[in-house]
Amino acid sequence: MDEIDVANERAEQITNRAIQLVLRSLPQAPSSGICRACGEPIERTRLRANPSAPTCCDCAAEEDSERQRRRKLGGRG
Ligand SMILES: [Zn+2]
Repeated sequence: MDEIDVANERAEQITNRAIQLVLRSLPQAPSSGICRACGEPIERTRLRANPSAPTCCDCAAEEDSERQRRRKLGGRG
């Protein structure tokens, strides 16, 4: 009886993971033109280079340096 519950839960987890993978692999929707991090308009030149850019140049650079810092620390957290 409990096995079915466990199986259902497991199936749900797998489905959720599959959905996330699909969402990630889909082409991104065109950017709204507003930086999702700071709310400022995204530079037009940046949108031309990357129409789905979610952040402005400043925030993208910040995210980049953050990512590199994390990689240096061993990729955790
Ligand atoms: Zn920004």
